[in-house]
Amino acid sequence: MAPTFAELTTMRVGGASRDFAMATETAQLVELVRRADTDAVPLLVMGGGSNLVVGDAGWDGLTVKIATSGIDISGTTVSADAGVNWDELVALTVADGLSGLEALSGIPGSVGGTPVQNVGAFGAHTSDVLTSVTLLDRDSGEISQWGSERCGFGSHRQSTFKNTDRFVLLRVTYELRRSRQSAPMTFAEVARRLDIEVGGTADPVDVREVVLSQRRRRGSIYDPADSDTWGVGSFFLNPVLQEVPPQADGSPRFPDPKGTKVPAGWLIERAGFAPGYGAEWGRGSVRLSTKHALVITNRGDATTSEVMGFAGHIRDGVEERFGIRLTPECRLVNCALGVSAPESPVIHS
Ligand SMILES: Cc1cc2nc3c(=O)[nH]c(=O)nc-3n(C[C@H](O)[C@H](O)[C@H](O)COP(=O)(O)OP(=O)(O)OC[C@H]3O[C@@H](n4cnc5c(N)ncnc54)[C@H](O)[C@@H]3O)c2cc1C
Repeated sequence: MAPTFAELTTMRVGGASRDFAMATETAQLVELVRRADTDAVPLLVMGGGSNLVVGDAGWDGLTVKIATSGIDISGTTVSADAGVNWDELVALTVADGLSGLEALSGIPGSVGGTPVQNVGAFGAHTSDVLTSVTLLDRDSGEISQWGSERCGFGSHRQSTFKNTDRFVLLRVTYELRRSRQSAPMTFAEVARRLDIEVGGTADPVDVREVVLSQRRRRGSIYDPADSDTWGVGSFFLNPVLQEVPPQADGSPRFPDPKGTKVPAGWLIERAGFAPGYGAEWGRGSVRLSTKHALVITNRGDATTSEVMGFAGHIRDGVEERFGIRLTPECRLVNCALGVSAPESPVIHS
């Protein structure tokens, strides 16, 4: 029997896929995708399931979990198959004396998942060192290699591969440096813990250690034993605004190629939803992480419909307070925000 998405994703909700296949070789992955397209079978590809929420009815088609595993390190050029676990790649490069990926330690998911939303943390992004991707274009059926300039990186968590199923990423290549000095650390808290100035460098091994401990402290390392981490990381995108409304005066702001980025977590907290909020909402099965208001968590037996209802409730509260409508950062399949009402009355503190 095909596994459920509750078993396949870090949000741990969602019904089963009609058909399921695990692709352990790139040729097999390409064949599965081409065959599904020829036969007009609805197809969902996934990596680690850490940025994916699927409806309670599951997926009425084929799901292909990418589990390819090849890694090639040649000098400072690192290529990895899409199915490689991201943090295992980071650990390997750091242990090999390469600098460039250390600040992205501890992010769950696969190598192929990282370009989709150009993952980032502590001021670093995969696009800083990504040089090319090898992909299958499902429109033409062709495999080609794209330089990073074609990938649409730039604005917050965006790329050419986000919000489309047209491309299947097969392999990603990075250019790193063989150095005991990390990339400049722009994140103040991590710099402080490394005992360096903001913009300074440290041994990548130390950067990885500090980043992992910071992530553990913030609950942003997925832990199957701790429901406070059962989510998709940041549930909402940080909104990029043309004009920050006066109600949000005092919010932190960051420049973005498309406007001004405001932290969604700040907006959520100021709208009255503190970390841990949710015990009195519905069955209390979905709550904000106790460590971060931007993280929506499944406390054990939540359904997708409850997650969607809760996320809609948070989105609406923020919109009411600030006039800013948050949008999900994660991929939603067969589900949409705000469709389920809680079984017990909403108490909004
Ligand atoms: C605890 C936790 C912490 C997190 N912290 C961060 C963080 O610090 N920074 C950050 O940016 N993100 C973070 N995330 C989000 C997530 O880890 C990343 O987005 C990750 O890159 C998703 O990869 P994945 O393989 O799990 O993708 P999946 O969840 O499997 O898929 C997500 C989307 O990408 C598509 N996709 C996946 N693989 C491919 C492929 N090979 N080709 C084409 N499309 C593909 C899927 O179809 C889907 O649309 C966090 C998540 C969790 C649970």
